[in-house]
Amino acid sequence: MWRILIFISIVTPSYMATRKIADCRTMPSTKNCSLTIAGTEEEVLTVATRHAIEEHGHKDTPELREEVRSTLQDEK
Ligand SMILES: [Zn+2]
Repeated sequence: MWRILIFISIVTPSYMATRKIADCRTMPSTKNCSLTIAGTEEEVLTVATRHAIEEHGHKDTPELREEVRSTLQDEK
């Protein structure tokens, strides 16, 4: 059995195992925004932070990035 588990962990790329989701509905926002962004943590952070700045008028700060990171959920 352990052989099978090891095999699966080798053939399954890590980026497929741990996709993150940023759901704009869970973020404090003045807009009624239903956008959901899914991908690796870094991808989601980059896109969601840019979205928060461009669409929601947030300031581009390291704090914003951390705030976005704290709202990320694991993909079900
Ligand atoms: Zn949004």
